[in-house]
Amino acid sequence: MSNLPKEPEFEQASNSRAAQRFTTLAPFLKKYPEYKKALEVVQIPERIIQFRVVWEDDNHQAQVNRGFRVQFNSALGPYKGGLRLHPTVNLSVLKFLGFEQVFKNALTGIPIGGGKGGSDFDPKGKSDAEVRRFVKSFATELSRHIGADTDVPAGDIGFSTREGGFLFGQYKALKNEWVGILTGKALDWGGSHVRPEATGYGTVYYVEHMLAHAGHADGFKGKRVIISGSGQVAQFAALKVIELGGTVLTFSDSKGSLIATGEAGFTKEEIEEIYKIKFARKELSTLGDKGGKYKFHGDSARPWTLIDKYDVALPCATQNEMNAQEADFAIKAGCVAVAEGSNMGCDPGAIDAFEKSRAEKGKKGTWYGPGKAANSGGVAVSGLEMQQNKGLTQWTPEVVDAKLKDIMKSAFQQCYDAGAEFPLSGSKEEIPSLLVGANIAGFRRVANAMKDHGDWF
Ligand code: NDP
Repeated sequence: MSNLPKEPEFEQASNSRAAQRFTTLAPFLKKYPEYKKALEVVQIPERIIQFRVVWEDDNHQAQVNRGFRVQFNSALGPYKGGLRLHPTVNLSVLKFLGFEQVFKNALTGIPIGGGKGGSDFDPKGKSDAEVRRFVKSFATELSRHIGADTDVPAGDIGFSTREGGFLFGQYKALKNEWVGILTGKALDWGGSHVRPEATGYGTVYYVEHMLAHAGHADGFKGKRVIISGSGQVAQFAALKVIELGGTVLTFSDSKGSLIATGEAGFTKEEIEEIYKIKFARKELSTLGDKGGKYKFHGDSARPWTLIDKYDVALPCATQNEMNAQEADFAIKAGCVAVAEGSNMGCDPGAIDAFEKSRAEKGKKGTWYGPGKAANSGGVAVSGLEMQQNKGLTQWTPEVVDAKLKDIMKSAFQQCYDAGAEFPLSGSKEEIPSLLVGANIAGFRRVANAMKDHGDWF
């Protein structure tokens, strides 16, 4: 009998991914077996805070929810990671997300640790007043545990600028201080330029490096690009692809995919229309077929198998949105690079297919860019927001974008170098595994800092 509480979601959700993480760390641990102790230590969060949140609904009835903050690792800096408001939130989900966040944040090179939090409160169907009363109650307890040098949350599912504003206001009222205890703030009260764009732009900057190393010196120029999703990440990834000379052939949402029927892809103006459609919470299909230029495939169809020939695939919607069969199709379609704008966009079968193709065919294979590196631009600009708040300043969009580009270059280089240093046995390593590299580079940085602090020895 274990003395540990059962965490079925964490175990089920993370088993295959945890196995993948440990497999990818194997060559590193073989060379440096002393890091096995670090791996044992790093898996346990430094601190978990659980609390009750009582709030008053519009009928003056008391409602109660559970609040959490997992302060997973502070070796590199203050805990940093989003707050999720969703009925499925529980400790095992947040522990898994917090663990991944530690290593993603490490790859940004910004001094930030990792954490995650939230509540099983469902903001859907609640009035603004109910959301405000809930968040203020949630923030009353959370404010004891966060701080600009301690723990700096951000938004996540169900927690946008509206919820952030209420949290920030309550913290300020309780502590009587205006400090950057939250990122993803509105521009007028301490937010950063380029934060909404950062994840999509950052993913495309990451892929530019992949393309250059895979022998495509002209980057996105003339490339046919398949994008899933039509939210914030997908829209800004698409705009950057177009700016760099590529053609965006697809978007999707939870109802299906909108696919170009000919060679012409989406225009900037059409993406602006998609923004308005999604802002109004309408379906992507309402864009229409633009005189036969597009065709909508319903029944929640995903885009990966609906176009015969493409160069780049960017999953930007949700988790597990590409499987092994779809990955095989992408490989046959000539896809050179796939990079996750979404978190865990590819399922383990898809990742295996891409890794096999890269290892066997080198530059002629399909190279996989894992989300923990490829979509780290979002948290990176959150880190830049913290830096601006500390300096009581706001940088121009150009300054932030230039810093984002540098961060994505460094994230790519760390993955590339560590992947090249520790090739998996038996593979032809013309281009190294960025998954192996990301896992090793993130882990090594955190583990080294922990060793310096005496957390393992
Ligand atoms: P949005 O909510 O703006 O957009 C999400 C998009 O994904 C929508 O088009 C939505 O369709 C679609 N979608 C959601 N669920 C499904 C599903 N089950 N099947 C098909 N499509 C689905 O989110 P973001 O663009 O901000 O985030 C997208 C992904 O990127 C998420 O995985 C997120 O965790 C990740 N990410 C985001 C960051 C950020 O800075 N925003 C940072 C790092 C990662 P519909 O409109 O029908 O709901």
